[in-house]
Amino acid sequence: MPVKKQESIDTGERAMAAEKRPIVERRDFLKILGISGAAATLAGCGNTSIESGVEKVQSYVQPEDFVVPGNSVFYASTCTQCPSHCGVMGRVREGRVLKLEGNPNSIISNGKICGLGQASIQLQYNPDRLTTPMIREGGKLVTASWDQAMKIVNDGLGKDSRIKGNEIVFLTNSVSGHQKVLINNFLESYDSKNHIAYDSLSTQVGDQVRENIYGYTNPVHKIKEARLILSFGNDFLGAGVSPVYLANQYAQFRKAPRGTLIQIEPRMTLTGGNADRWYPIRPGTEGVFALGLANALIQHPEYDTTLPTELTESLKAYDKYTVGQITGINPDAIGHLIAMMWEKTPTLVLSGLSAEGHQQGYQNAYAIELLNVILGNVGKTVTAPMENPFPQMTHVNGNYQGLVALNNQLDAKNVKVLFMMGVNPVYTAPAFIELKNKLSNVPLKIAMVTQLDETAELCDVVLPLLSPVEEFGTHLASYQPEAIEIGIQQPLMEKLHAHTKSFGDVLLTLLKERDEKSYSKYPDYYSYIREAVVKSKPVFKSTLSDDDFWDSALMNGVLHVPLKEAQIDKVKIESVNLPKVETHPEDVNYPFYFVPSVKADMRDGRHANLPWLQESPDPMTTVVWDSWVEINPKTAQDMQVREGDILEIKSSMGSVLAKAYLFPGIQPNTVSIPFGQGHTAYGRYASNRGVNPFKIINPITDEKTGELALFATRVQVTKTALNEKVVKDEGPTTLQQGRKLVATMAADKAELSKEV
Ligand code: SF4
Repeated sequence: MPVKKQESIDTGERAMAAEKRPIVERRDFLKILGISGAAATLAGCGNTSIESGVEKVQSYVQPEDFVVPGNSVFYASTCTQCPSHCGVMGRVREGRVLKLEGNPNSIISNGKICGLGQASIQLQYNPDRLTTPMIREGGKLVTASWDQAMKIVNDGLGKDSRIKGNEIVFLTNSVSGHQKVLINNFLESYDSKNHIAYDSLSTQVGDQVRENIYGYTNPVHKIKEARLILSFGNDFLGAGVSPVYLANQYAQFRKAPRGTLIQIEPRMTLTGGNADRWYPIRPGTEGVFALGLANALIQHPEYDTTLPTELTESLKAYDKYTVGQITGINPDAIGHLIAMMWEKTPTLVLSGLSAEGHQQGYQNAYAIELLNVILGNVGKTVTAPMENPFPQMTHVNGNYQGLVALNNQLDAKNVKVLFMMGVNPVYTAPAFIELKNKLSNVPLKIAMVTQLDETAELCDVVLPLLSPVEEFGTHLASYQPEAIEIGIQQPLMEKLHAHTKSFGDVLLTLLKERDEKSYSKYPDYYSYIREAVVKSKPVFKSTLSDDDFWDSALMNGVLHVPLKEAQIDKVKIESVNLPKVETHPEDVNYPFYFVPSVKADMRDGRHANLPWLQESPDPMTTVVWDSWVEINPKTAQDMQVREGDILEIKSSMGSVLAKAYLFPGIQPNTVSIPFGQGHTAYGRYASNRGVNPFKIINPITDEKTGELALFATRVQVTKTALNEKVVKDEGPTTLQQGRKLVATMAADKAELSKEV
């Protein structure tokens, strides 16, 4: 739950007050916490210490002077659970981190935090954390020492530089800051640039469109400045690019004069549930609807008339009746929306994953972005991001092309050593990639994880990492709306498990093997990060001493680069990129559209190991701890399906079984299963629970970018004879305690209803 701003400011002040206590310097705090505090507790336990990595942290028996039992101290850090990298404050008591809150110094979090960020504390105390390295012996993973594990790694890499170039792969999810710098330095030491970033829920299609139109992949969308937002499946309040920042913007957008939100999507997202009007649309036809609006808009001379003639001519084909027939949206909706756009300016148009995840995903996103151009939003609600003086730390966005690149290299049987960190491709890769089999061709696979997941289970060496609240780091968010913010991550407590290590320390150890001269001066990752941050001082025009600069960076949790504005100075539109006016053919074998949903907390399943998230009711259905199939009540009635009936959802790639949930927020010929469940490993909370929709995704890709069309799969839906109770946190009524989710029509009534 977000905290009140005042409370957040107080926590910041408390943190600063605690930091400035004269007796103990901040930089010594954790050291003292580790040695003196625990040493007092462990007196008489032999020659062991936390620093030597032998003992676990214990609660204080004889605390230090500055520790007041029962009183919390707050320390700033950075949330690493999604690429938004919100600034957070950790509440620490008696040496244990108990809770995270937002950091009011952070522009991105502004003192707030989302449920996923809150739940991340459970990574620290998860009973299934990996606590020692593991190596493969006799076909099985067995526990080992770090020396044994690193010997296998070093032998595989070959001190005599036998491994070179593409023979080594470093696979990660999206990554930034000094993690990225170290990965690149490590690969360069092997004459390799083979860092592959794979994200199964990539925004690459929309990013590419924005890059081609504006010259920026990540322009800033000024939500709070808009008076009307038209969103095509952009779940910016749920699993968007920066949910906490954008929710804050949205709250201001809703203040008087209250902005209006229109959501168009085949399955209602959390953002759709907050909309003033929600229009169900036939999956994949979002671009056609956008062009129907564009065609209607350019009839008015007030809107942009500088579009190429060829384009304005081609828009004529998108009359409201044709568009209505293709999209399933009442033709009168176009006139209503145009009137609202006229009345409420400025506007902002957003495209999202469900519009972009199709064979014509690029064209859909292009048509949607065209509306911003016609409406004159460029420079008003769509602006350029700030210039970043630290390109080496810039966020690298993972995408499906990362998986394709890995797959191609595995097919070529070229890869000798594969490092993986922050990714679980065996779980997220679609079945048609057959990744599991192909990985067996790699002689040495190394996973760096906090818990054994499906991919780590197949590796030869598994290295146990520190949890995010035990780790140092720097991070640059993928979406930088008002300034370039560098998030400083610091340990909020001593490590819980003696044999876990920092990712940075592991890489530094490997780098020292390659280039001792350059890296031996860094005894640990802490000293590396500290020097890197202090060296950036001139950019911030700071007059502080090195020590004070570092202390203030830790204390504030963020560094803000002085503003250097950029402008969108050219907009390039080409009619060749627009979607075609064509009705999607019916598929008699697979008559249903399959539109999986992305939950704000589970995302692609990487957070299924957090029990708070399993227990937290899905905001649209209130279902917990399971997978379910959303089906429109009208369709369910036609098929005589009741809640809890087990349905088989079958694509040409395979099938899954899940319980039916009757959901009016999905259009009639569509079914949806949330991503996130269906793990076969990943600890007690994640494994053997629900089904994994990635495994039935068809091999369809966006024609332009090659990204996986995640929302273009067609399926059969078959009712089985089984029925099980759907476990949900809902009252006696079938939908949100009898409240309507949105003050609009239900999807099953929308197609033929009169526009309201
Ligand atoms: S939006 Fe992302 S970075 Fe921010 S608190 Fe939530 S999970 Fe953490």
